[in-house]
Amino acid sequence: MNLSPIPFNRPRAIGRERTYLHQALESERWCGNGVFTQRAQALFESRFGFRKVLLTPSCTDALEMAALLSAVGPGDEVIIPSYTFVSTANPFILRGAKVVFADSLPRHPNLDPDQLEALATSRTRAIVVMHYGGVACDMGRILGWAQQRGLLVIEDAAHCIDARFRDSPLGSLGHLGTFSFHETKNIACGEGGALAVNDEKLAPRAEVIREKGTNRAAFFRGEVDKYGWVDVGSSFLPSEFAAAVLLAQLEEVDAIQARRVAIWERYATGLSDLPRRGDVILPVLPPYASQNAHVFYLVTDTLETRSRLMAHLKERGIGAVFHYQSLHQSAFYRDQHDGRALPNSDRFTDCLLRLPLYEGLAHEEVDRVVEAVTQFFG
Ligand SMILES: *Cc1c(COP(=O)(O)O)cnc(C)c1O
Repeated sequence: MNLSPIPFNRPRAIGRERTYLHQALESERWCGNGVFTQRAQALFESRFGFRKVLLTPSCTDALEMAALLSAVGPGDEVIIPSYTFVSTANPFILRGAKVVFADSLPRHPNLDPDQLEALATSRTRAIVVMHYGGVACDMGRILGWAQQRGLLVIEDAAHCIDARFRDSPLGSLGHLGTFSFHETKNIACGEGGALAVNDEKLAPRAEVIREKGTNRAAFFRGEVDKYGWVDVGSSFLPSEFAAAVLLAQLEEVDAIQARRVAIWERYATGLSDLPRRGDVILPVLPPYASQNAHVFYLVTDTLETRSRLMAHLKERGIGAVFHYQSLHQSAFYRDQHDGRALPNSDRFTDCLLRLPLYEGLAHEEVDRVVEAVTQFFG
């Protein structure tokens, strides 16, 4: 028996990607903020109800814009989960702020709101939440707490397209939300991102920061008769080619999501016995969250079990991968961390394993993965 390998991820054009790319090439307007950028932004706003969306070259760039907009600097502190991607923290370090790492919940990678009060000081200026796998953090509590303390709330919603906290789309709840369209995310254009500007007061400055600190966007709308340097900024505009691919993917969001959700549910049903048999944690969904099938993972009892399971799946041609490494333990940051143990973040670092999940994954392939995992736990 010679079964074809099942990769962890496989991006695919399923709509008008080729047509739009061709149109962008023919348009003789290749630089940023053209027709495709504006159509994609408008579709995000109308489809999900975001107040204002600005496409960026990556979620990392959107987070750098968020850090600039938050105006934090030396002497300021920002609370960030340890179990996340480096790009959640790096932009604030680049501004000279101090990062204070929060631990995850015991049974979910999202940050634990019970710890927030103990982590805050008079210098705390902002909190960045990351909704792991498109599953909302407890935003009712977090927003209430942040408001009491007057903190800026930034959502790293890299995983979160089409996921909700109660009725609100993730990325629309904080002052700012950031999205990723990297090829591993639900909707992709190779490298891409977006900044949702939910606090109206930040919108004019966001536009200027994206255009190298100039009021060029206002100039093109005819609001000023020349444009110039008005603030700090950088080059945070994606090219029209990325925007063209992204628009095509976004138009297919319902089809993409329907397939991903079906795959996710097939895993959940197929593996539902595991927690009893193998001391395994499967994804949990709090009552206030509706998820978007971004990841299907399991959490093993030990690092050793996870390594054996990964090897077992690899032998069968199945690409299962672990995820973040606790940032407070990283080579870059561990000497600056205050020494607190963050055991839940470390547990997910060591024991979380993601199974293949992409729109084109066939149900027979899901069944092969389920069978291999089930066989491993005996
Ligand atoms: C993917 C990801 C990012 C970075 O996204 P890019 O678009 O690759 O810059 C940031 N945060 C989280 C949580 C991510 O998963």
